Amino acid sequence: MNRRKFILASSLLAAAGLGVWSWPRRWRYIVIHHSGGASGDLALLQRVHRERQPNDPIHAIPYHYVIGNGHGLAMGEVASDWRQEYDLWGGHLTLHNLTRNFLGIGVCLIGDFEKRDVPESQYQALVRLTRALMTRYDIPAANVSGHGMTPGESTQCPGSRFPMARFQRDIA
Ligand SMILES: [Zn+2]
Repeated sequence: MNRRKFILASSLLAAAGLGVWSWPRRWRYIVIHHSGGASGDLALLQRVHRERQPNDPIHAIPYHYVIGNGHGLAMGEVASDWRQEYDLWGGHLTLHNLTRNFLGIGVCLIGDFEKRDVPESQYQALVRLTRALMTRYDIPAANVSGHGMTPGESTQCPGSRFPMARFQRDIA
């Protein structure tokens, strides 16, 4: 299905099921990921997404926002594509988690935080973006999680060196 047909079909479904007005305001969760690679940009994430999820009808990265680390995207640069632009659901969690794929904003930091610490500027960009989204959609801190600590998911993402305790304090 091409992009135009897909948007038309999903808009009609959304209008019928959820009401066109509530759809862009439905976000209830934020889920943090890392890319698992040392460098990356939208094009790379898109290629990986196509390899891993060839049947996703949405030809866009599986996350809503990406935060760069200076390799591919600028350090702390926030990038997004039409999945975010049209408030489409994410493809960043397993099928156990349809709720958070539909109602959760996926944020991916470029980097592998099993191997390296999160650069401070990239971390600060994540805190700013997360706080802004929490305010915009009235999302409580309890609904912000790392991928691996999300119920139903078993992964180390966003990496054992991601400063989760500090992050939770910073967004509280
Ligand atoms: Zn993840």
